[in-house]
Amino acid sequence: MKSDDSSNSIKKYHINPQSGIAFSIKQGQTIRITDIEGEQVSDLYCFAEDKIEEHLSSGHTTDYNGKLFLSKGDTLYSNRSNPMFTIITDQVGKHIMLYAPCSQAMFEKSYGVQEAHVNCLDNLTENFKDFDIQQPDIAIPFTMFMNIDISPEGEITILPPISKAGDYIELKAEMNMIVAVTACSAGTCNNFEWTPIEVELFLGDASS
Ligand SMILES: [Zn+2]
Repeated sequence: MKSDDSSNSIKKYHINPQSGIAFSIKQGQTIRITDIEGEQVSDLYCFAEDKIEEHLSSGHTTDYNGKLFLSKGDTLYSNRSNPMFTIITDQVGKHIMLYAPCSQAMFEKSYGVQEAHVNCLDNLTENFKDFDIQQPDIAIPFTMFMNIDISPEGEITILPPISKAGDYIELKAEMNMIVAVTACSAGTCNNFEWTPIEVELFLGDASS
C-alpha cells in the first residue's frame, strides 16, 4: 500500500537503534511510527503540553478499552481520563501498555547485567529534558510492536514481535502534548536484534 502524503507531512524523525527522540504535537495532528526493519519494539510516553501532571496511563487505557492488546480504534488515555491518542491505522494489530520501560534496574534484576546498559527509561528521560521536562515521572509507556502471550492463568510470555519490515501504526493526537519515542534496547522482546524506528508527523490525518 503506497501512500501519497507529501502534502501534509511536517517532519520525519529517524530513531537510531537503542536511542530515542522527543517532539511536540498538536491536537489533530498524526504520527506514523514505522518498524523499518521489522521485529523492533518502540516505547512511547507523553505528557499534556504545559501540564506535566497529566500523562499517559496504562490503568485508564486498560479500563476504558476493556482489553490488554491495543489496535486500530483504541484510545490511549491520560491519568485524568482524557483521550491522548487514538490509533487510526495499524498494520500489526497487537500492541501493549503493560510494562515499565526497560531500565538499568531491569537489566540488573532480570538479567544480572553489572555494567551500564543503554535503556528506554534513560532514553525517554533524556529526550524529555529538551522540552523542559527535567524529571519526568515515567510510569508505563505505550509499547508498540511488542508481542506477548497471556495464559488463562495470567502468566506472560514475551515473544518475538510479529511486525514485519515497513509495518506501521498511526496515532492521532487528541490534545497538545510532548511525546518521546524510543527504539527499545532490551533483548527478548526485540528477538535480540536492535534496529531503527521512524516517526513521521503529519498535519491532520496521514493519508494512507
Ligand atoms: Zn526498551
